[in-house]
Amino acid sequence: MNQDAKIYVAGHRGMVGSALVRNLQRRGYQNLVTRTSAELDLRNQAAVADFFADQRPDYVLLAAAKVGGIWANNRYRADFLYDNLLIEANIIHSAYQFGVQKLLFLGSSCIYPKLAPQPLKEDYLLSGYLEATNEPYAIAKIAGIKLCEAYRSQYGCNFISAMPTNLYGPNDNYDLNGSHVLPALIRKFHEAKLHGEPVVEVWGTGSPRREFLHADDLADACVFLMEGYNEELFVNIGTGQDVTIRELAELVKQTVGFEGELRWNPDKPDGTPRKLMDVSRLHHLGWQHRIDLSAGIAATYQDFLANQEVYV
Ligand code: GDP
Repeated sequence: MNQDAKIYVAGHRGMVGSALVRNLQRRGYQNLVTRTSAELDLRNQAAVADFFADQRPDYVLLAAAKVGGIWANNRYRADFLYDNLLIEANIIHSAYQFGVQKLLFLGSSCIYPKLAPQPLKEDYLLSGYLEATNEPYAIAKIAGIKLCEAYRSQYGCNFISAMPTNLYGPNDNYDLNGSHVLPALIRKFHEAKLHGEPVVEVWGTGSPRREFLHADDLADACVFLMEGYNEELFVNIGTGQDVTIRELAELVKQTVGFEGELRWNPDKPDGTPRKLMDVSRLHHLGWQHRIDLSAGIAATYQDFLANQEVYV
């Protein structure tokens, strides 16, 4: 990518898209195109085609998606499937039609089977049943990978895919029903500390294991792949290290300075028992994460404190 190339970052208001914009700008890319969802409804095929016809981006980073935590994925099953299928199909097809030189599609670690061996290798895709709570989202993301592969094989498009592990960072979703575990814990512990509440409810049993990557690290890996990776095979993006939800809760509790108790609520779902990425392909390509979990949580809590009015 040369620095004047026109790069469309789809989903630039979200946690991933905003991190991509920051990373591209830091690397000197000047010609970024963005649209809010009010300006361009990515579920609208004609609107997306008009946008591509008008703007003619050279490169596309597809970070737009309907995303959420375990409760939202399970509650809004139709929306997670429908919105994500339309967003990715419209963008990928328009990218083909209007001659985009390269596109990066972002998936998720939930594309892997619920009981796949750990760590999750890229080859385990479609080798077993999915986790029920986020199956619609996972099916949509698998369709996105397959669209990139199919447009590459049928039309020769240089469309690549990356599968990030669980992410956190600035501009995350702090709505307690919609959010993932890490922002939920930051908000719950912060509010309990503020109001002097003695107990915080945490979901599930605490025994599932999850891997967490800071959005700035993800963005750096994505731009790294845009600059030099041109293969059909998708690439996992993670740290290669995981923690139990119980350990995560203790870490966030300490960072926030909440001194009360945790009450685990086993009526809430645990989700997949473990999803740890095998990141050997990414490491072989020459990229490794930089932000370790405790430093990342500390920075994310500071960002939460600075932007609370926007986030909650
Ligand atoms: P997942 O990785 O798709 O399962 O999504 P989440 O980040 O929403 O949940 C990860 C794990 O954290 C699950 O086992 C949840 O039950 C657990 N968890 C504990 N407390 C919370 C909470 O307050 N919110 C969320 N979203 N998950 C929580």
